[in-house]
Amino acid sequence: MRIDIITVLPEILEGFFNQSILMRAQKKGLAEIHLHNLRDYTADKHRRVDDYPYGGFAGMVMQCEPIDNCISSLKSQRHYDEVIFTSPDGEQFTQSVANGLSLYENIILLCGHYKGIDHRIREHLITREISIGDYVLTGGELAAAVIADAVVRIIPGVIGDEQSALSDCFQDNLLAAPVYTRPADYKGWKVPDILLSGDEARIKDWEINQCYERTRLLRPDLLDED
Ligand code: SAH
Repeated sequence: MRIDIITVLPEILEGFFNQSILMRAQKKGLAEIHLHNLRDYTADKHRRVDDYPYGGFAGMVMQCEPIDNCISSLKSQRHYDEVIFTSPDGEQFTQSVANGLSLYENIILLCGHYKGIDHRIREHLITREISIGDYVLTGGELAAAVIADAVVRIIPGVIGDEQSALSDCFQDNLLAAPVYTRPADYKGWKVPDILLSGDEARIKDWEINQCYERTRLLRPDLLDED
């Protein structure tokens, strides 16, 4: 899978994608993440990509031309399944949206900045808009990082033990069971006996019970979903 991220601040994202699991995914050839500096796509001699909004509103707006140039250049090289704009008024990002995106070959993530982007880009070039929550960030970079991270980690082979991604929270609309590691007794804080029993079937039952119990307790709304 290939993810192209369009941003005015590629530096913010470089470090993030060059670490641990995301780096390994790229080295293994399971994911490609490409950062594009929007300022490389403007004809403006000061490399400006924003301007004042029509109507006299406050703030600055990202212009059509550099965004159009960048998306058109990418589209001329390959087909994209989705051109996604990160936006607080978009559809809510969830595990099921991440699962769906992870099946795609190529996606574009466009990071907004300032007051946002010229609305005509949203009308003509964007195929999907995603919010990472009901709050407003200064830019779409963190949203793009969240989306790319959640999508790449579930590509088969990215996480060593594939079962591991499948038993995380929100797969099957359930929260994950608690996990423990050595030592079995730390300051008198004990690991549940069942996990030390070696009885695989009973341990599996315990895990499933824990998932349901924790979901009922902490997120009962998930049990009502399909
Ligand atoms: N004026 C806009 C907010 C602009 S914030 C509004 O009220 O909707 C600047 C940029 O940050 C946005 O264009 C978007 O790309 C990004 N952003 C901010 N909050 C976000 C969120 N919750 N999810 C995804 N992207 C977000």
